Amino acid sequence: MPSITPLINQLRSDYPQFIFKESPDSYWSHDEKTIYYNAGPDSVSLILHELAHGLLDHVDYKRDIELIAMEREAWDKAKELTDKYNLVIDNNFIQSNLDTYRDWLHARSTCPKCNATGMQTKPNIYSCLACNHKWTVNEARTCALKRYSKKVK
Ligand SMILES: [Zn+2]
Ligand SMILES: [Zn+2]
Repeated sequence: MPSITPLINQLRSDYPQFIFKESPDSYWSHDEKTIYYNAGPDSVSLILHELAHGLLDHVDYKRDIELIAMEREAWDKAKELTDKYNLVIDNNFIQSNLDTYRDWLHARSTCPKCNATGMQTKPNIYSCLACNHKWTVNEARTCALKRYSKKVK
């Protein structure tokens, strides 16, 4: 695996407004204006993705559905950046990454009583239009999702 250091150095000089820091998780911190990245196998795609969140000035989301829109936007922007740096992001990687968000949303929004799709009425509350059941959802659990609910606030 080629070293990502040259890319990081390039990004540091192209985007002096951001800090790039190595970390076990990849995420964007709006408060710290920091792109956390790791040197794992998908590092290049993820670095560009997190940088895209930064360039789009993503802060936080109120509805789960907004998070998915932000994710899609960040991947579109990341793909624009690949031209500039002569890199490639595999579309399958993007799709499977977005799928984890879609699965997560599906699991949260399905009514536990009747399986209809509920509506999110508060950050952690869903409500079913079919049977009126209301349920509470936990904070986002996967590593990729945590960055918004915990690290960006
Ligand atoms: Zn993202
Ligand atoms: Zn229901």
